[in-house]
Amino acid sequence: MRHSLAPRSDFPLLAATPGLHYLDSAATSQKPAAVLNAIRDFYETANANPHRGAYALSAKATDLYHDARATIARFVGVADSDCVVFTRGTTEAMNLVASSWGRTNVQAGDEIVVTALEHHANFVPWQQLALQTGATLRIVELTAHQSIDLDQLRDVVSTRTKLVAITHVSNAVGAITPLAEAVHIIRARSAAVIVVDGAQAVPHLPVAFDTLDIDFYAFSGHKLLGPMGIGCLVGRRAILEKMPPYQFGGDMIEWVHDFDCTWNVLPHKFEAGTPNAADAVGLAAAVRYLEALGMDQVRAHELSLLEKAEAAVRALPGLTVYGPAVAQRSGVLSFSVADVHPHDLATILDQHGVCIRAGHHCAQPLMRRLGVSATARASFYVYSDESDVEALVTALVAAQQIFAAVD
Ligand code: PMP
Repeated sequence: MRHSLAPRSDFPLLAATPGLHYLDSAATSQKPAAVLNAIRDFYETANANPHRGAYALSAKATDLYHDARATIARFVGVADSDCVVFTRGTTEAMNLVASSWGRTNVQAGDEIVVTALEHHANFVPWQQLALQTGATLRIVELTAHQSIDLDQLRDVVSTRTKLVAITHVSNAVGAITPLAEAVHIIRARSAAVIVVDGAQAVPHLPVAFDTLDIDFYAFSGHKLLGPMGIGCLVGRRAILEKMPPYQFGGDMIEWVHDFDCTWNVLPHKFEAGTPNAADAVGLAAAVRYLEALGMDQVRAHELSLLEKAEAAVRALPGLTVYGPAVAQRSGVLSFSVADVHPHDLATILDQHGVCIRAGHHCAQPLMRRLGVSATARASFYVYSDESDVEALVTALVAAQQIFAAVD
C-alpha cells in the first residue's frame, strides 16, 4: 500500500508535477498551499510595517507577527515566547550567538567544543570565534557509524570549555544525537553554554526546548514546510538579557541619545529593522500544518519509508550507506555507489524524475573523516511515499547499468 502522510494535492508544486520524486527535503521542503496562502493573505489583508503605525492596519500586522511567534514557541516547547528571536535561519542564529555571546564571553585560554558531524553553519562561526579570540577549538570525533562519540565528548569537555556547539540531527547522514546524554556529560564537566543546531530536528521530531536543559537552539523555517528567509534562535532568558545586540538600527532600541543608546526588551533587542513578518506568518501556518499531522506521526512515517529504502538499496551491489542504524536516523539515506561519482548519479536520477542531493552537504569536516569528497543523499518528508522509494531504487539500478556498460 502506498501512502504519504500529507496529501500531495496539498502541495501545489508536487500536484503540478506528478512524475516528480522530490527526495531532497533535507535541503529544503516543499510548501503546502496553507503556507503560500498565509503569506499571500498577509500582503493582501494586513500589509503594514509592524510596531510602527498607530493605525489599525499596522496593529493587525503587529498582532499577526506576534501570534506567529507564539505559535512557533508552542511548537518547539518554549513557554516564554519572548525567548524566540526571528532570524533569517539557522545560519544567522548561529552567527548571532557567536558574535554577541561569543565575543563578550570567550577569551584566549578558553576552549570551544564542536563535533566533526556539524554543518558548516554550526562549525565555521565557532572556528572563526576561536581564531578571533585566541580560544582553542576542540573537535569531538565520531563513532564508526558517524554518530557523535560520547566517550570522546567526555574526554574533550572540561572546566576550560566555554561553549559546546552540537547538532541535534545531522543533515549529511541523518544521525540523531543522544542529546540528553550529551547534555548530561557536558553539564557534569563544565559550566559551558550549550548551543544546539536543530535545523534537521524540528522538521522531523517532536522537540521541546524547555525540557532539553540547553542554552540556545536554532532552526530554519524552510525545512519544515515554511518559507525561506525565516528561522529562529531560541535562548534562555537570563542569557539573552545579558547579551549585547547583534545588529543595530530601528526597533531594537529603547532610547537613542546623541552618544549612547538603551536597548529594547526581548525579543526586539535582537530584531533590528523591519521584520520579515509575512514569512513569520507563513512559518506559523507551516507549524499548524505539522501540528495537525502530529510530529509523532511525522517521525513514524519517515522511519517506515527509510526502512524500506534502506533495505532496498542495501540489496544493490556496490552500495555503501553512511550513518547509524535506521532507528537512530532521521529520514535521510546518505550513500555512495562504487565507481560512480555522486554528481553523475544525481544527474542520471534526475532523468528519472528523482531529485537527490549530491555533494559535501556543507559538512566538509565529516566528508574528510569518511574519506570521500561527496555522498548522494535521499531524504524523505511528509509528502513522500513508497512510489518515491521505488523510483529511487529503479533509477539507481538504471544508473548502475549505464556505468557497467561504460566499463
Ligand atoms: N544546520 C543543518 C544541520 C542544516 O541542515 C542546515 C541547512 N542545510 C543548516 C544548519 C543551515 O540552515 P540555513 O541554510 O537555513 O541557515
